Amino acid sequence: MRYESKSCVATCDSAFAAQVRKESGVAFERCYQCLTCTLGCPVAKYMDYRPNEVIRLVQLGLKKEVLTCSTIWICASCEACFARCPNEINIPHLMDTLHQMTLRHGIRPKETRVAAFHLAFLDPVKRFGRQNEALMSAEHFIRSRDFSLKTLKVAGNLGIGMITKGKIKITPARTGKGAARVRKLFKHTMRGTQP
Ligand code: SF4
Ligand code: SF4
Repeated sequence: MRYESKSCVATCDSAFAAQVRKESGVAFERCYQCLTCTLGCPVAKYMDYRPNEVIRLVQLGLKKEVLTCSTIWICASCEACFARCPNEINIPHLMDTLHQMTLRHGIRPKETRVAAFHLAFLDPVKRFGRQNEALMSAEHFIRSRDFSLKTLKVAGNLGIGMITKGKIKITPARTGKGAARVRKLFKHTMRGTQP
């Protein structure tokens, strides 16, 4: 189905809403657009669509608009909206599901630096079963392709200082059986989303 107006043409994908519902388990169909979520969201002003608007887009099956919007990456998962929603709609979890769908579809995230951090954060956990700050910082540096002098200076001064003071370890700590379990968990939940 296509909706057309003077300013836009949007294509509805009727299977998309069902897929999001199945993958997230979030009952977004209960949303009646009261705007409580958006009014309490601390970062709504930085989003291209407000949280309530993303819910509406998902309900309408507007896949492209949802998976290419900045909102899903800007959401800080603070859960203020979830706590306030009269219909107990778990918006942060919905945003997480939409991250995974975006990556799985090979869509370039609108907020590339946030997405780079998202992937850089998850990668050491996936590989070693726990976080390693040095690895995460290096991976974020490479993924975000920010090779500016300012970033290099911060990385050099702060990073080396923290390593020499033993605040950050270079070699990742392994968690033995725990790492294998975490890897299995990633395989099960994030199939096809790790580029
Ligand atoms: S608070 Fe809940 S019901 Fe209200 S607009 Fe947001 S998601 Fe919809
Ligand atoms: S969880 Fe995300 S959408 Fe909800 S209030 Fe926090 S930042 Fe906003």
